[in-house]
Amino acid sequence: MTDVVVPAEVQVPPAKVITENLERPELDNRQYRVIKLENELEVLLVHDPDTDKASAAMDVYVGNYADSPDLPGQAHALEHMLFLGTEKYPVENDYSQYLSEHGGYSNAYTSSMDTNYYFEVSKDHLEGALDRFAQFFIAPLFREECLDRELRAVDSENKKNLQSDTWRIYQLAKTLSSHEHPFHKFSTGNLTTLKENPGKKGINVREEFMKFHERHYSANIMKLVVFGREPLDTLQSWVEKMFIGIKNKSIDRLVYPGQPLTDKELLTQVIAKPVMDTRSLELCFPYMPEDELYRCQPSRYLAHLIGHEGPGSILAYLKEKGWANALSAGGSPITTKAAFFEIDIKLTTDGLKHWKEVVKVVFQYITILRSQPPQEWILKELQQVAAIDFRFKQKDAASSFTSHMSSIMQRPYPREWLLSGTHLIREFNPEQITQAINHLTPKNFRLTIVSQVPPEGLGEMDQTEQWYGTEYRVDKISEEFLGELSSLFDKHAPVLSELHLPHPNEFIPSNFEVEKKEVKQPTKIPTLIKNTKFIRVWFKKDDTFWVPKAVVYVLIKNPLIYATPANSIKSRMYCLLVRDALNEYAYDAEISGLEYDLYSYGRGLLVEVAGYNHKLPILLEKVLSKMRDIEIREDRFNVLQERIMRGLKNWDFIQPYSQIFESRPPPFTEFIGKRSVIIPEGSHYIYPRVLKDPKNINNCIEYLLFVGRGWEKRSRALLNLFIQVTEEPAFDTLRTKEQLGYIVWTGRRSFANTYAYRVLVQSERTVAYLDSRIESFLENFKTVLDNMSDTDFQTHVKGLITKLTEKPKYLQQETGMIWGYIENEFYDFMRIEEQVAMLESLAKQDLIDFYNHYINPASTKRAKLAIHMVANTDNAGKSQVGPLPLAEQRSLSIQVIDKVLNQLSIKSDLDVLNSKFAQLDELTVDNTSGTLRSYLEGLEPALDKQKLNEAITTAEPFLKDLLKSAKGDARTEVPASNGDATKSTVESIVQKGQAGIDVLLNTLGVQGNTATTKRREGVVIEDVTSWKAGMELSSAPSPVKPLVLYEELNVKL
Ligand SMILES: [Zn+2]
Repeated sequence: MTDVVVPAEVQVPPAKVITENLERPELDNRQYRVIKLENELEVLLVHDPDTDKASAAMDVYVGNYADSPDLPGQAHALEHMLFLGTEKYPVENDYSQYLSEHGGYSNAYTSSMDTNYYFEVSKDHLEGALDRFAQFFIAPLFREECLDRELRAVDSENKKNLQSDTWRIYQLAKTLSSHEHPFHKFSTGNLTTLKENPGKKGINVREEFMKFHERHYSANIMKLVVFGREPLDTLQSWVEKMFIGIKNKSIDRLVYPGQPLTDKELLTQVIAKPVMDTRSLELCFPYMPEDELYRCQPSRYLAHLIGHEGPGSILAYLKEKGWANALSAGGSPITTKAAFFEIDIKLTTDGLKHWKEVVKVVFQYITILRSQPPQEWILKELQQVAAIDFRFKQKDAASSFTSHMSSIMQRPYPREWLLSGTHLIREFNPEQITQAINHLTPKNFRLTIVSQVPPEGLGEMDQTEQWYGTEYRVDKISEEFLGELSSLFDKHAPVLSELHLPHPNEFIPSNFEVEKKEVKQPTKIPTLIKNTKFIRVWFKKDDTFWVPKAVVYVLIKNPLIYATPANSIKSRMYCLLVRDALNEYAYDAEISGLEYDLYSYGRGLLVEVAGYNHKLPILLEKVLSKMRDIEIREDRFNVLQERIMRGLKNWDFIQPYSQIFESRPPPFTEFIGKRSVIIPEGSHYIYPRVLKDPKNINNCIEYLLFVGRGWEKRSRALLNLFIQVTEEPAFDTLRTKEQLGYIVWTGRRSFANTYAYRVLVQSERTVAYLDSRIESFLENFKTVLDNMSDTDFQTHVKGLITKLTEKPKYLQQETGMIWGYIENEFYDFMRIEEQVAMLESLAKQDLIDFYNHYINPASTKRAKLAIHMVANTDNAGKSQVGPLPLAEQRSLSIQVIDKVLNQLSIKSDLDVLNSKFAQLDELTVDNTSGTLRSYLEGLEPALDKQKLNEAITTAEPFLKDLLKSAKGDARTEVPASNGDATKSTVESIVQKGQAGIDVLLNTLGVQGNTATTKRREGVVIEDVTSWKAGMELSSAPSPVKPLVLYEELNVKL
């Protein structure tokens, strides 16, 4: 960690240019240059003259496969730590604050073999961001005081995934793989693997992280992408200066030999129980690595045929039988020496009963592939579609582009093909394809069935996966069944007549004409080219992207569709049936870049068709005529009905923060348009809900402060500005510092005709506690606003304007925006321009006035609604969530004390506090305040009596509140059912929690306003229907100007 940053004036050795000649899409006007610095860091520089965002990404070729066996989750936790301060920029949130102030953000991920870091920032601030970013890889501090907190963030991230079937089933596949292979590992990490266990073994976690960084973070295995408006030479000179400081340790790229599935794991059948009521069957074949086979990419040939959905395909056959709803197939790399080819089939209930037949159908189809040589015309089609897609590829968002490209650079493509390598298929190589097919045999696979109940005859699930708790069972596949498969697999065995290779694809476009003209300024407003009693047609010619593509939305308005729950379900059924009937037909269109969708919602039925112009009308016409002429088949109806019912049931088991979206007051539909409930000034409503999933330990709060109505431009601008100003501090306070939970969002929530400031937190802490922490954050924000300099204020205004005026990147995005203005029925196409003008006219005092009216908890004009999703911890009459571990209770208490003392200007000594708390076997209010007292009395120089008492009285209520939620007893007070007791208990928790914090804040003088100690009591909404019936409604949205002004009825297209 002692490498010195090279000062600017020192001559930096110039980088070597590798190439500037990258194969690229037709409309790509960027410039590219691949260079290598003297420390062997390879860099892709990208100059984009039009971008409004700059970005960079670094991919380090080390991931969780490299975790030490004593520290599962090590690479991932280390990734978290790098964000928190470097020698050059020691302040822990300096990086995120810099990005946030300049309209940007950052993120990172750790995968099996890579760790990938990236950020995005407004175009004029790349240099500052890049310098901060470079230091992660040069001199990170691994700040001791952040370690604990960050490990808790990792733990919370893991807890968020615990009830997710994707994570559970993936880990089960890993856990049931060879213990000799790194694929077997647990990658996320949690407090047990990263703190408690290493603690017991006397491992110093921080030191291990530093060693890992020292060992694996070397310039020669890193790939950097830098993307900005500046010329390539400027970007290069920055990179040379800033990144040369990364040490080159000339380490070898990590290679993991061996196979994750050995004889022991192959030919087994795994039955796994999902959280959701879903059913699927997966065949996993050990497969060959394809990194070097990028010219032909044989797995794409296989995936295309096995995953086909048109006539003759596996899926078409299974659907006809009523056995499956969906199928996907494809190769996935595991290491550079091993890969899988996976076939995943979503089964119906009947399909589960016939699972053996389903497996047989798959092998019969593979037999068809084996019994004839690879077909050149099929590969040619794939090649053609891939070439068209790449030719007209539109730009990705800045950071998705850099992050993706930096990981691509780790692969062995010729550097000229970095952009095109994954997309293009360059040759038909029948030997490679044959070799690929030869991996798919009945002697080389593992079968996994996911289902809540095991299929008949397979035995009960009798084991539990150690990291996620998934129940499962594993057996060898019976010799008898394997024998049946082998006989079907014989090249001469008769094959089901319904199965065959696909027909040539008629949807592949061949006309790419675009009528391009000179335009000075792209138009923002579409024109109304038809306006009658029955139909309105809006049109805008693409004048930005010049791609041979179109997007069409057709909204068939009908208020009956959502008028009753029965109608809404019937409409959904209808849409599903139409899509189901079109599936075989539309599949060819879909793989040729022509998609459609059909769904029902509050305003009617919406058809969306997007893709290449050439064949788009054919598809649109087919969709519309199928909507008119559909014949409803009873067998398909039954299959789809079952799927809808299952979907509704599964709703209760998804993440609490996603469930919130449904628990808001539903939109009020009337013929005249959508209206919203108005939350009146001075109100404070609480809407408590208990989660139905007894294993979900997370609570969630959505805290809403209603700010204005759809047409009030000024309050909307101020709200957006307030969100901009609070975004980073809210995250820093509620997530990073207070560690409430992994999911912390702030932002705007829009309803039909109103909008609100929202804070959403998902956490194991009680909702009352969360509510009080948000209140406290907002209260404290008064000081931040008062002290904000005018320069800072202007920086925020600029940052927000940058975000708002970000240009759409591709046609569908622009169409979506315009459609949004049409669909919301304000037709305010110039909304962004008006927002910008409004923002430029605002002064700091306007924001303070806004805060005092709408946000400040002391305001009598605030309109608050909090939705409380409470974990159902008492389902079986006992709490499923015990208290937080003692170590965590101690560490939280110490943090609170430290904070309190700091605010009283008493310097705390964490070592002494730690050792004092370590002596407590259980934390109670008495012994914690006793410990605090003895600590304070022992301080040198001695505190005066008054100060000492002040500190204890200040900390006590806070500790009380903290201990209460730490021990989880507050949670068990909430009854399991939505019973009558909910109101009083939730409310009493809110009151108790707030009381403690109010006392604290008032004593500290943070909020001198006594109004907060008499915080208005919230009104609990018990019956949401009658509550809504008693509320005032907004009017429906209306056009900002008369629609005739947009008419241009005789236009020639
Ligand atoms: Zn993470």
